[in-house]
Amino acid sequence: MHHWDKMTKSSRNGPPPKKKTTPDPDRLERLVAEANRARAARELGYRERALKILPWVCGRCARSFERARLRELTVHHRDGNHDNNPPDGSNWELLCLYCHENEHARVEDARAGGGADKPAAPATHKGLAGLEKLLKGKK
Ligand SMILES: [Zn+2]
Ligand SMILES: [Zn+2]
Repeated sequence: MHHWDKMTKSSRNGPPPKKKTTPDPDRLERLVAEANRARAARELGYRERALKILPWVCGRCARSFERARLRELTVHHRDGNHDNNPPDGSNWELLCLYCHENEHARVEDARAGGGADKPAAPATHKGLAGLEKLLKGKK
């Protein structure tokens, strides 16, 4: 019995573990790097998940993509919130790089409040008219 008492006592009286208090100048940098890594991992996470459950087709121009060209297919967040990633994919839309850019440009135009009053580019009308002529000529 006496032996046990002795052992318990001696282990209790040992010096408490010291906490490291030395300032670490690299700490913030490491934290930032870690946050960036976590963000990249999260983005990779939703992209992979989106590609798993959605067909590899651009939601705008309907171009389809094979694995080799998959990096041209991007994940668009319908509500613009990249942190809103419901597992059923309801906030995701797969868009090719071009349509994705257009989509965001459109949203920014709408936010700026202009858009509607802007004169349409005449080149587009000419191009369409020309195309129509070509199509009619073919028939
Ligand atoms: Zn597209
Ligand atoms: Zn987007």
